[in-house]
Amino acid sequence: MGATTTSPFVIAGAGLAGAKAAEALRDGGSDRPVVLAGDEQERPYERPPLSKEYLRGMSARDEVYVHPRGWYEENGVELRLAAPVAGIDPGGHTVTLGDGETLPYAKLLLATGSSPRRLPVPGENLDGVHYLRRLAESDALKETLGAASRLVVIGGGWIGLEVTAAAREAGVRVTLLEAADLPLVGVLGRETAQVFADLHTDHGVDVRCGTHVTEITGEAGRVSGVLLPGGERIAADAVVVAVGVSPNTALADGAGIETDDGVRVDAALRTSHPDIWAAGDVARAFHPLLGRHIRVEHWANALNQPATAARSMLGEDASYDRLPYFFTDQYDLGMEYTGHVGRGGYDRVVFRGSPADRQFIAFWLRERRVLAGMNVNVWDVTGPIRTLVTSGLPVDAGRLGDVGVPLTEVFAGG
Ligand SMILES: Cc1cc2nc3c(=O)[nH]c(=O)nc-3n(C[C@H](O)[C@H](O)[C@H](O)COP(=O)(O)OP(=O)(O)OC[C@H]3O[C@@H](n4cnc5c(N)ncnc54)[C@H](O)[C@@H]3O)c2cc1C
Repeated sequence: MGATTTSPFVIAGAGLAGAKAAEALRDGGSDRPVVLAGDEQERPYERPPLSKEYLRGMSARDEVYVHPRGWYEENGVELRLAAPVAGIDPGGHTVTLGDGETLPYAKLLLATGSSPRRLPVPGENLDGVHYLRRLAESDALKETLGAASRLVVIGGGWIGLEVTAAAREAGVRVTLLEAADLPLVGVLGRETAQVFADLHTDHGVDVRCGTHVTEITGEAGRVSGVLLPGGERIAADAVVVAVGVSPNTALADGAGIETDDGVRVDAALRTSHPDIWAAGDVARAFHPLLGRHIRVEHWANALNQPATAARSMLGEDASYDRLPYFFTDQYDLGMEYTGHVGRGGYDRVVFRGSPADRQFIAFWLRERRVLAGMNVNVWDVTGPIRTLVTSGLPVDAGRLGDVGVPLTEVFAGG
């Protein structure tokens, strides 16, 4: 079965990237059918609230969805839920669904996202051990936080820290276990990661770094605590495992499409196969400004990349060159991060404002150029930070760190 003029655009994965791709393909004006096939029961929803306001009971379920229920039918998008795409035949231009049905496609977008890494220790499957990716998992965790008194959170990344904050706000005692020297140290570096460690310590969290769990213990099939390497046992009535995600590349691998910790795509988000694209968490895309392939596991990337993929699928020239951007909310700390610190790393961090007061902008520099900026409880500066990064011009560190100097006037010799 080959592609015909009426073969649909098929999107594998009905998360944020898949839903935005369907929207962009429709906005692009093509008459071709669009099929959006997802393996979940829910129509596409946004995940950030699942560890923040939705988990804390501050927002309603209806607010998490990307589109209203009727949007798909009204816009001629065939939404297939509980319909995993099980295989791709790139030569025949078909996909096979989990129930064996075969669908032809003209162009295919992989928007399969990523999945939580499992913790390879005994007890990982006990009742009361939570992972957090899906809406139903947030519901289950919300219920647990309402009843638990002692929680162990394994992994001090963004999701682990947000869950920790939600648990503390629900009055639960929390021990946070992080394998590295500090939570987030791999992402932010020591100077700025300390701010987040202090934030949680100040909110009564027992933050334990440089340690890992050897076993999750249980009684009668339910979690009772965790064991640390020296034999120490920390009692808990629930455990959250938040040790990162892996891109869902199995479909691409099975079809012989090039992968490398993600589906490798060019700046137009096209894979190694000319009629197959990838976007969102699963894509490792060439970034024209940074000059390398990057994979971004953040909301803004899943929101914005699909428009570029759709344009390219519709035959236009397109290139995705937005800088990575993400945000977090923990207690009374709100933060936005713009930019990307590559493998070479940074050689200096400049603070503008006061990390101790948790109101500042941190800049990561390499050879006097700004690679990334993170504003903490300082707002409306994403534009100027983006300009500093994209300009590639050297800055004067003294002026950059001086809150009295506008961010437009910090260039060296300026
Ligand atoms: C709890 C939580 C909090 C977050 N908070 C933030 C935040 O504060 N800021 C931020 O920037 N980012 C945040 N993120 C990250 C952000 O949600 C992701 O970057 C975004 O969801 C990626 O969207 P996606 O559509 O690429 O992938 P996903 O959201 O993973 O969606 C992919 C979908 O495809 C499905 N799928 C997989 N394989 C198949 C298949 N073979 N067939 C059919 N369907 C398939 C998956 O089940 C899933 O439904 C958070 C994530 C989580 C889990």
